[in-house]
Amino acid sequence: MISKEIQENLKNSSWIRKMFVEGAKMREMFGDENVFDYSLGNPYFEPPKSVIEKLKAVVNADEPGAHRYMDNAGFVEVRQKVADSINKDIKVPLTHKHVMMTVGAAGGINAALRTILDSGQEVIIIAPYFAEYIFYIKNHNGVPVIVKSNPDTFEPNLETLAASITEKTRAIIINSPNNPTGVIYSEALLKSMAEVVAQKEKEFGHAIYVISDEPYKALVYEGHKVPNIHNIFKNSMIVNSYSKSLGLAGERIGYIAVNSKIENAELLMNGLAFANRTLGFVNAPALWQKVTADSIDETVDIMEYQKRRDLLIGHMEKIGFEMVKPNGAFYLFPKAMIEDDVAFVMEAKKYNLLLVPGSGFGYPGYFRMSYCVDMDMIERSLPALTQLAEAFKK
Ligand code: PLP
Repeated sequence: MISKEIQENLKNSSWIRKMFVEGAKMREMFGDENVFDYSLGNPYFEPPKSVIEKLKAVVNADEPGAHRYMDNAGFVEVRQKVADSINKDIKVPLTHKHVMMTVGAAGGINAALRTILDSGQEVIIIAPYFAEYIFYIKNHNGVPVIVKSNPDTFEPNLETLAASITEKTRAIIINSPNNPTGVIYSEALLKSMAEVVAQKEKEFGHAIYVISDEPYKALVYEGHKVPNIHNIFKNSMIVNSYSKSLGLAGERIGYIAVNSKIENAELLMNGLAFANRTLGFVNAPALWQKVTADSIDETVDIMEYQKRRDLLIGHMEKIGFEMVKPNGAFYLFPKAMIEDDVAFVMEAKKYNLLLVPGSGFGYPGYFRMSYCVDMDMIERSLPALTQLAEAFKK
């Protein structure tokens, strides 16, 4: 027997997984080259050569003790390198004491929530959101509170945000560049948001943490920049990983970096290390800490993602889809051509197109396309996309 909660979650869980299963079936029926799968956000490119070279060097170094347990927060020298990288555009610098290496961004968010949440406390997420947030919050007996973003920018609506913060609000999770919209929150928006949060912290007399989930921070186009969150908020935690920037999603390596301005940051760090240990992660993978330490600011070939984005947007706009142009990550989030996004996505399957309905991200009426796919697949899919659009214009 499994718990009722997990049974319920399994029933409601992930559209992305459903489409994955659907995709496998369709490939069997129609052949690989005739299925246009835009459903999965699995990084497409291999890690940079330098990362693979470093991996070989670390493996061959035969360093005594390299495979032992360590401080639950990770190797000091690796954490210092992460701090140095974040310090490049920070006003109040961090040291290794503000950084904990984690099992990907997912492990980092779970450790953060485990550390700060008491049962029944609320965590605000911005729709459309990465669907796993709901489960992460519930893992730690928190209550997700959803604030819708404005459809014209996909930035959070600050009035709704202010009205949604209560005595019980412990944290707000933001994600920019965003999955599923690809939108980067502007510095102006973030500064206004910081004012709202500071005012509410004063009103309720306690910290409201801003957890900035940034696994796409390095995947930005045309010189767009993601502001350093620690310059804008006081009680902020950056969660990042190398899953997307270095194409290492399967290796499970990332970090949390807390703002040095947080009062009692040391206690928070002790809590995070305790949570990392007792959630069963114990520490981030030793090997991958060492490998990534010298590649923090490297990325896979971003131009390749940009080419895919431009080809797809160009075509989607030409055939009549509306969308906010994404400046980062590898997703498009166009408006469905009918209100019912699930029906729209089902219709798309008739053209062998696999899309994910906005409902899966708490934002009905839209759908997500992941363009971390073969360029050829995008090209082959264009006629099918045109047919889909035409079916709704009749
Ligand atoms: N946050 C967002 C917004 C994501 O899209 C993902 C993965 O797709 C994660 C977190 C999890 O990242 P990681 O693989 O580093 O755990």
